[in-house]
Amino acid sequence: METPKNEQFRDSIGTINDEGKRAWVFPKKPSGKFYKYRSYVSYFLLAFLLLAPFVKINGNQFLLFNVLERKFNIFGFPFWPQDFHLMVISMIIGVVFIILFTVVFGRIFCGWICPQTIFLEMVFRKIEYLIEGDRGKQIRLAKQPWNAEKIRKRVLKWIVFFIISFIIANVFLAYLIGSDKLISYITGNPLDHFSTLISLLIFTGVFYFIFAWFREQVCIIACPYGRLQGVLLDNKTINVAYDHVRGEGKTGRGKFNKKEDRVASGKGDCIDCFQCVHVCPTGIDIRNGTQLECVNCTACIDECDHIMEKVGLPKGLIRYASEENIVKKSPFKFTARMKGYSAVLFILIGILIGMLFLRNDVEATILRLPGQLYQHKENGIISNIYTYKVVNKTTKEIDDVSYKLLSHKGTIETVTHQNFEVPKQGLAEGTLFIELHQSEMKDEKEKLKIGVYSGDKLIETTTTNFLGPRSYR
Ligand code: SF4
Ligand code: SF4
Repeated sequence: METPKNEQFRDSIGTINDEGKRAWVFPKKPSGKFYKYRSYVSYFLLAFLLLAPFVKINGNQFLLFNVLERKFNIFGFPFWPQDFHLMVISMIIGVVFIILFTVVFGRIFCGWICPQTIFLEMVFRKIEYLIEGDRGKQIRLAKQPWNAEKIRKRVLKWIVFFIISFIIANVFLAYLIGSDKLISYITGNPLDHFSTLISLLIFTGVFYFIFAWFREQVCIIACPYGRLQGVLLDNKTINVAYDHVRGEGKTGRGKFNKKEDRVASGKGDCIDCFQCVHVCPTGIDIRNGTQLECVNCTACIDECDHIMEKVGLPKGLIRYASEENIVKKSPFKFTARMKGYSAVLFILIGILIGMLFLRNDVEATILRLPGQLYQHKENGIISNIYTYKVVNKTTKEIDDVSYKLLSHKGTIETVTHQNFEVPKQGLAEGTLFIELHQSEMKDEKEKLKIGVYSGDKLIETTTTNFLGPRSYR
């Protein structure tokens, strides 16, 4: 069955032409209230994104995601692999938060906060407008042969794009390996860190490819969040939407004619000027309804408002609204689905806060050495061998660390030094023996409680098992 004409836009994406090739989008430069506010938000987020790996709190990098060395800092708090459960809960909270936000406000994240949109629309696109001019000039330039003007503009654009991609790649690396290391690499001989230099150039190439060529295809084809929209949005979700009731009227949209009485002719307020289409960075027509390609960038709201102002009609023909707002003219409602997601979100946040408060700065584990049995010693002493690990999550070294048995009478002896140090944000590990007199054993397997001390101060307690022969009593 052939798709009805007004539904044909759903058969292909706006950036693929009839021959199946890429239809390059030349969006008009947006202007207006929303674009101004989005620019302000983007300046703040760009500053945050670029500075976060270079800001330190208590000596900790503000944001660090060192996957290779398994070191993570979030808002200056160091997280260790031992805190993995906290990371998992934080990620689940992030996902639920985004889902809740999407159910209520649609893709507001894509238009206002997503780094892809921020870099593409607020950095690369602005540079493109500066070098190549607005939509009309860009289309002309693309069509014209490779003369001096085209070569000059294109080469200049590519060089600037490459430099910015290189800067972004450096910042990205600072998130991964830490800003101190990055700065030491930059100030040192690059050939001493050849593999890092290669990674840097690969990242630069990826960013250049995304922002110079792949562009809106990230949002349309690659982004998993974009793909989720179909299940998250409903007719109560607030999106950038075209008011089709008002825009189409009784007899549909029509070109503007000063002398025409549109109310009498039954025409809607849309004057079919296509400005909302020309300004769209994903190349779609918002008048076809909510589409997966729409990143809610608000450019069409601003553009249509300009047109409405010019023809003397009320603004807001395209605005933030839900399908229900438009059709029934009903106000926003907090639905059962929203209530459910909010409840889950609050519970998870509560759990995370609780866990953060219970999180220790020092974590000790003592485990029996695998494959080793207990030993009988003189005078009824039983000995077990263990490995230990003490993690110091703080930015201060912990010295004079020792173990004491809290639950039983007995001795703990570490193999190298009896008292040891744990470096800041580091760990100490080694081997130790625990010895108990057989009279201390009520069973073949005793659970021991052990205190970890720095000097005389108890800094952590841990437990381990102690094995002995069967039946002493
Ligand atoms: S900008 Fe507004 S008036 Fe012009 S085509 Fe789009 S919706 Fe219609
Ligand atoms: S339809 Fe409007 S809000 Fe959506 S991407 Fe295009 S210009 Fe942005």
